[in-house]
Amino acid sequence: MKSVLFSRFFILLPWILIVIIMLDVDTRRPALPLTPRPYFSPYAVSRGGARVPLRRGSPGRDAAKRNESRPRPHPEPPLPTIYAITPTYSRPVQKAELTRLANTFRQVAQLHWILVEDAVARSELVSRFLARAGLPNTHLHVPTPRRYKRPGLPRATEQRNAGLAWLRQRHQHQRAQPGVLFFADDDNTYSLELFQEMRTTRKVSVWPVGLVGGRRYERPLVENGKVVGWYTGWRADRPFAIDMAGFAVSLQVILSNPKAVFKRRGSQPGMQESDFLKQITTVEELEPKASNCTKVLVWHTRTEKVNLANEPKYLLDTVKIEV
Ligand code: UDP
Ligand code: MN
Repeated sequence: MKSVLFSRFFILLPWILIVIIMLDVDTRRPALPLTPRPYFSPYAVSRGGARVPLRRGSPGRDAAKRNESRPRPHPEPPLPTIYAITPTYSRPVQKAELTRLANTFRQVAQLHWILVEDAVARSELVSRFLARAGLPNTHLHVPTPRRYKRPGLPRATEQRNAGLAWLRQRHQHQRAQPGVLFFADDDNTYSLELFQEMRTTRKVSVWPVGLVGGRRYERPLVENGKVVGWYTGWRADRPFAIDMAGFAVSLQVILSNPKAVFKRRGSQPGMQESDFLKQITTVEELEPKASNCTKVLVWHTRTEKVNLANEPKYLLDTVKIEV
């Protein structure tokens, strides 16, 4: 009887061991993620969910990052948030412009996109676009009054002011976190270096702009680290002869000058920038960026109007497609 039991036990033993090993292997396998990953990774995410700054510090830092448990002697100050205010309006190329812009912004750490539609309501196209853009954003809208929609009149005044109002309201109660604001039209071209330059703005910083004012570029003239004049082909007598794409303002300056806005009344065409900057700074105070304003890091590009001569008046296709 005993020997029968023994022999049965030794026959079963290997099978029992196999089952135990298989169960053990299965529980060690990592669990499948609950939510599928997006089809792209909007930005590199460091431990703790913070976005990895764009090329900040030395290349050796990546290696150091893997060893993050080691205490750092001097923790770095928080990276100032860059607020980009973009006025935008509905037209055949709108989604293409916004796509190019988002592709640039997605590579910039700690950027908050304030997109202001020139419209009576937020459009579905832009809402859908932002939902998939992978960028911290605020979606606003304000229509330009009909009487101001004429050639020769400044564009996007109301939209830029709406962006400013949102920023001021958002920061009205708390002590302002470090931040920098700039006006990013939806059709310009921005190098990534530009964001590194503007991020260190203390009050108001300036730099050259390419393909603007009827010249290859315009730029602030700098002597001994100070702006002393303007290289421009158009109305050099403007106090600040600079394009909208050529400056950034610290959040602190925006908050301590609560009345500074873009004006319709009394503002001549092409004087928007100058009239705005006059309210918040002086030429002597300007901080030249981009190697004392000798490098072009942003271009005032303009997209050609598309040819829709063969577009049918009524839907001929079998499906309705957003472009
Ligand atoms: N814009 C707008 N409403 C308009 C015309 C322009 O919101 O009726 C926006 C446009 O999307 C862009 C900015 O205002 O972000 C400047 O317009 P545009 O690029 O046409 O001007 P320009 O290149 O002549 O400075
Ligand atoms: Mn433009």
